Amino acid sequence: MQTTGSWYVVLLDSEKSVQCRLRGKIKLQDLDTTNPIAVGDYVIVEQLEESNEFIITEILLRRNYIIRQSPRKEHQRHIIASNIDQFFIVATISQPRTSLGFVDRCIAAAECYHIPVHIIINKKDLLRKKDLTKLEEWQLMYKAIGYPVHVISANDKEDIATLKTLLKDKVTLIAGHSGVGKSTLLNAVNTSLKLKTGKISGKWEKGMHTTTFATLYQIFENTFVIDTPGIKEFSLLHVEPEEVSGYFIDINAFAKSCKYNNCMHINEPECAVLNALENGKLAPARYENYLNIVDNIKSTNYWERK
Ligand code: GDP
Ligand code: ZN
Repeated sequence: MQTTGSWYVVLLDSEKSVQCRLRGKIKLQDLDTTNPIAVGDYVIVEQLEESNEFIITEILLRRNYIIRQSPRKEHQRHIIASNIDQFFIVATISQPRTSLGFVDRCIAAAECYHIPVHIIINKKDLLRKKDLTKLEEWQLMYKAIGYPVHVISANDKEDIATLKTLLKDKVTLIAGHSGVGKSTLLNAVNTSLKLKTGKISGKWEKGMHTTTFATLYQIFENTFVIDTPGIKEFSLLHVEPEEVSGYFIDINAFAKSCKYNNCMHINEPECAVLNALENGKLAPARYENYLNIVDNIKSTNYWERK
């Protein structure tokens, strides 16, 4: 399902796309959200008698979903996308430089939403000697905690074949700064896609309704990619500061041994996380990014968060 305002595009089992409206009274999940339907939802549709009109009568239970705080209505959240199989975080070491802060924020969000992560490092053809050292550090760090890292180039046929295999028969959420090569990679996977590439910002959002935060692309039959233009949804503003360490699986592994149950791993006595950091068992970058997310949540007004 893909939305553009009050009309929804539904892909039927027959692979045909139809425009649908929502039935006035619809069975909704018990969620406090501003939008009834999100990109990626599975829905039941009915064709109205003696007409070509379709209506959505039911939304099936979502396996998972990502949300964003509704900008206006306090207490309400906007579901951005649902039923996601995996999350590709596309990063580049240079041109443009992706920060580890961004990568870790995405990973934490993925953990929060229960979505498996793949870290895709693109533009390997541009790597220089000093970039290679950095690349190795990233690979070691993420592989040590169990996240697959794929170092690829849009120009490499084998890499594109690998990417195609990874995407096949799945719904993949994709995130990455503008210019890292998301459109180029998808175009290489399916040459008939013809997504616009280049450096012009905003191109990815083209044609979207302003209240939508995600676009669904069909790459092949049964293979979809969901792109979210903003990165706000990965800022975890809807969670409490105490919950953040739960989304850093490496920190969480040590946190169980902290003296205090409510330890925030900042300056508490007998903190197993701080101990691990001191003994080199925890990557300093990961810890720093954990602290940054906690600080960010703490410094955001409660009503802006909830
Ligand atoms: P997006 O904003 O993430 O969709 O990025 P684009 O796909 O528009 O790519 C931005 C620029 O990076 C374009 O000029 C691409 O040709 C270029 N690019 C993408 N992938 C690669 C790559 O693997 N190597 C090199 N050298 N350039 C790439
Ligand atoms: Zn602690």
